[in-house]
Amino acid sequence: MIIKAKEILKETFGYDSFRPLQEDAISNVLKKKDSLVIMPTGGGKSLIYQIPALLFDGLTIVVSPLISLMKDQVEQLEQFGVPALFLNSTLTPEQYRENVNRLRSGRVKLLYLAPETLMMDSTRNLLTELKVDCFTIDEAHCISEWGHDFRPEYRQLAKVRKDFSDAVCLALTATATPRVRDDIQQILEMQDSATFVASFDRTNLLLKVADKKNPLEQILDFLYTRGGQSGIIYCFSRRQVDELYADLKANGHSALPYHAGLAEQERSRNQDAFIRDNVRIIVATVAFGMGINKPDVRFVIHHDMPQNIEAYYQQIGRAGRDGLKSDCLLLYSYSDKQKIQYFINQKEGNEKEVAEKHLKALINYLEYDDCRRIPLMEYFGETYGKKECGLCDNCLRQAGDQQDYTVQAQKFLSCVARTEEKFGAYYIADVLRGSSAKKVLENSHDALSTYGIGMEWSKNQWIQLSRLLIRKGAVKKDPKHGSLLLTDHATKILKGEETILGLLDRTQTAATDEARTRTSSDVENKYNEILFEKLRKKRKDMADEQGVPPYVIFPDTTLMEMAFYFPEDDTGLMGIYGVGAAKQKKYGKDFLKIITEFVKENEVESRSKVIRKKAIKTASKQKHEMIGEEYNAGKSIGHLAEKFGVKTVTILSNLKKYLEDGNPLDAAGILASSSLSERKIDEVNETMKKVGPELLKPIYEDLDKSVDYNELRILQLAYLAQNGG
Ligand code: ADP
Ligand code: ZN
Repeated sequence: MIIKAKEILKETFGYDSFRPLQEDAISNVLKKKDSLVIMPTGGGKSLIYQIPALLFDGLTIVVSPLISLMKDQVEQLEQFGVPALFLNSTLTPEQYRENVNRLRSGRVKLLYLAPETLMMDSTRNLLTELKVDCFTIDEAHCISEWGHDFRPEYRQLAKVRKDFSDAVCLALTATATPRVRDDIQQILEMQDSATFVASFDRTNLLLKVADKKNPLEQILDFLYTRGGQSGIIYCFSRRQVDELYADLKANGHSALPYHAGLAEQERSRNQDAFIRDNVRIIVATVAFGMGINKPDVRFVIHHDMPQNIEAYYQQIGRAGRDGLKSDCLLLYSYSDKQKIQYFINQKEGNEKEVAEKHLKALINYLEYDDCRRIPLMEYFGETYGKKECGLCDNCLRQAGDQQDYTVQAQKFLSCVARTEEKFGAYYIADVLRGSSAKKVLENSHDALSTYGIGMEWSKNQWIQLSRLLIRKGAVKKDPKHGSLLLTDHATKILKGEETILGLLDRTQTAATDEARTRTSSDVENKYNEILFEKLRKKRKDMADEQGVPPYVIFPDTTLMEMAFYFPEDDTGLMGIYGVGAAKQKKYGKDFLKIITEFVKENEVESRSKVIRKKAIKTASKQKHEMIGEEYNAGKSIGHLAEKFGVKTVTILSNLKKYLEDGNPLDAAGILASSSLSERKIDEVNETMKKVGPELLKPIYEDLDKSVDYNELRILQLAYLAQNGG
């Protein structure tokens, strides 16, 4: 069956191979074994129920709390030619009735349901009329009070599940904590289920933290090189959203705001504009993102610090679901930290303790000097096996970017010592720069030996140094007063036993080309941007015509591959990422036309042969080659028919193709599946010798119709195999 699943992956969805754990999980579901799948956002959870749904006779139910996503998911499936529909409160009574009728007709493979809809007696009655093979619970963490969005309705699912005793239960979530995981298994009574936990490392996300200095300038720098890309900018407050949105607009950027203070209608309009590529940037509070399935979000910026790592990871997880490289930038400032601290201080007891712990973990991540994936993965209970990821700011920093700041560090630290560890960085900077501020004079700090020894640097540079010293653990901030305290490390620096190496200015936000090219694929680096834009435009027009988001037609990756390989015919197109049979039929001609015209008018490096070859290789490998290889490895024809979920004749015709390709086949194994007597077999062989083995009809006639076509196919193949094709 798993081979059949691979075929669907290629033919229906247009993907070449499974992502990690998809294959194992699908295989388990196909065996009707309950499964719990934990994968990060963008990991590819949907295919784990969508592919089995196409292989099961009956219906697959998908329970999801995200009503706003159901329409999107059903639209995407329809584009792939998969019959799916949803039932929830957004449908008009007519639409509802129509969907129910379609369900009864038995042709629908996937049914998306809101939990409340599922719980209704009418729905439960309806479903008892149907054969349900798979009961999928998406966002399964909603069942747990320990998860971040508990839904009481989810608790009832255990009961409803019992209505479908023949159905396999599949629970999916992106929340990894063991407590939530246990809850899911316990409440759904799926203790014996297999659990599949994927790595939480999103390897296509570039992680970057910059010191926040002048956030608008920093964000404008960042956006400068990101022409038509879509992205989200998260802010702490509604006010901040409105401000930044206005600033970006004033600077000519295509942006819209989103926060809970806007009218419902405006919110959904803005979200829609973003999804449909009518606007590039959404400036939002954390209220934005839950119902967003847009796969081509190319960047997520945090204008302010997120609440904790879990929230941060969920938010940046909205970038690059399509697997293409995407950037995550966080602007970090000490005052943001204080803001969060302030909110934590309002809490009490256990809640406060947990919040403190979360903040500490976040700060550790933000101030980390080595690969950022190390603390991040550790937080999610994984050990990051490598020392470097090559795709975070720390890893991308050149060794040459670091400088030796030992001398300045000594000045700074001794000034902290002379002022008796009672002051913060701004004050120390004043003393070092010989300021005549009132406070300095009142404290008679103009008499210190460190007064005015730091004139070579601006105040800002001294502040940056203080940050570096905090990161390196040479000073600590007194949590109550904000004054700087010296550590043992500081003593060593002052004695000249240790040096301070680091990067002072961490406010740069513009991307370096190097970061861009170092880790992405050839396709991402070398696709033709002009053709890409043309294809994008076509996609947008088609999407608007159908009233669907552009990515539903083709994701960016598809267009990028088209603008890299320049496929020139249907076969070449089938080798392109995300082009399955249905989309090929629906859109192939239009896109091929644009590509062919472009190639005719421009000189491009032709790669159409490469993609053609790849298409042929994967397409045929899916079928007759795989079957031929398995057969030659000793599998019987009956076994193969079962494994591939097809009839014997299909196996025979695939083996015939395999033979015609010039591959050897063992005739004895084929003959073994014949039920004719040896005498009859000899008779058929004689006939084939006489009239030729190629056409079945003359053989059939010559034998006076005494042997049926199925048997003839077996003997024909055996004959051809014996006589070398
Ligand atoms: P999740 O539900 O885990 O957040 P999705 O199921 O939405 O992730 O998948 C994210 C994206 O990856 C989708 O655009 C999907 O089509 C694509 N995808 C999933 N599996 C594969 C695969 N095996 N090969 C290529 N693309 C895939
Ligand atoms: Zn790294």
